[in-house]
Amino acid sequence: MRMYDLIYTKKMGGRLSDEEIAFWVKGVADGSVPDEQSSALLMAICWQGMDTRETLALTLNMRDSGDRVDLSRVPGIKVDKHSTGGVGDKATLVLGPIVAACGVPCAMFSGRGLGHTGGTVDKYSAIPGLRVELEEKDFRRSLTETGFANSAQTGNICPADRKLYALRDVTATVESIPLITASIMAKKLAGGADALVLDVMCGDGAFMHSLEDARALAQSMVEVGRAHGMRIKALITRMEEPLGWAIGNALEVMEAVEILKGQEPGSNLARMSFRLAAEMLLLGGAAGTLAEAEARVAATVANGAAMATFRTWVKANGGDPRALDDFSRLPGAPRRIELRAAHSGYVQGIHSRALGILAMELGAGRQGQAEVLDLGVGLRLRVQVGQWVEAGQSLLTLHCNVREGNPLPADWITLGPEPCPQPDWLLETLG
Ligand code: URA
Repeated sequence: MRMYDLIYTKKMGGRLSDEEIAFWVKGVADGSVPDEQSSALLMAICWQGMDTRETLALTLNMRDSGDRVDLSRVPGIKVDKHSTGGVGDKATLVLGPIVAACGVPCAMFSGRGLGHTGGTVDKYSAIPGLRVELEEKDFRRSLTETGFANSAQTGNICPADRKLYALRDVTATVESIPLITASIMAKKLAGGADALVLDVMCGDGAFMHSLEDARALAQSMVEVGRAHGMRIKALITRMEEPLGWAIGNALEVMEAVEILKGQEPGSNLARMSFRLAAEMLLLGGAAGTLAEAEARVAATVANGAAMATFRTWVKANGGDPRALDDFSRLPGAPRRIELRAAHSGYVQGIHSRALGILAMELGAGRQGQAEVLDLGVGLRLRVQVGQWVEAGQSLLTLHCNVREGNPLPADWITLGPEPCPQPDWLLETLG
């Protein structure tokens, strides 16, 4: 078999056989396929796509390119959640302790941020001492002892995906439905959970910009999960504005903690996190209806059990739980700069991609895999869509190391004379 023929077949719009896909993925993992040939094939897949059979074969071969986590000895239906990535998305920090406190083992592997999108592992890194890279035995121990395990994927999980993702990142081939499906689902299947709730984000700050593409991605991931006997549901959610008020690692921990303490129950972020948690309870068999699941989630936050679980989990994994009550123990930034409205008006839109890039440039995110983050910097949004603001009012606060903030470009937070309703975060559900 020759890589040249695979590239040619796909370039011309043909289909790759299961054997050809297995040949490619094995060659990626063992290094026998050169990067230039993989890059060419990735680009051909971006243009020509893959059908369901090919996507499934790619997923399985990537899953089997390394080890698989064995959670079979942990009792119960293990649930996981995955978001396709957005700006200010700290839902995982909120929902993990809630689901665990409701008695459903919550086993999640998370990623680091790249580009304008944040990553859960980076946010956890802001909690002093917390170990974010657990070996399999420590992951299982955390799950057994606290009902909750959340770590970066370590060891030899999906090495083919690691290599392909790094190539995609530098060859503009990330945004492809079959490639995203295989990349995410291979890691999820290798991660050992029995059930998965997917948050497929759609909009300016997400990888999928149109509802049509988000729907196709959700459908594709649900099909692959089902084909492997996974209980799976996808929610398509809005990612036009950042989620919540914080962008930046320590700031996002603060916001998640406030929600777990019941201090911000009405925010879009809280409503979204609670709904995702409720869907996880349903898949985990802890509730019969969505209404019942939502009531359990609300009660678990209100009675303090979710926050107690978060504290226990942080302590069990080496973190300092005092930082959850005394935010001065979290990394901070030396300077605060207010960016103010040039004129009055209703907030019409908040440009999440631009603000994600701004936070990244301050040091909260990385442009390349090797960059070291500044965990204390970021943005604190002061306004929401639909809100009236006066000229000169603060729109956002930069938490930064720089002396001066440039004026905010007018189209990053748009103001207009017309009242504008707050848009709903949930666009569709599937599965
Ligand atoms: N996240 C992943 O893990 N893989 C992708 O391809 C895109 C987002």
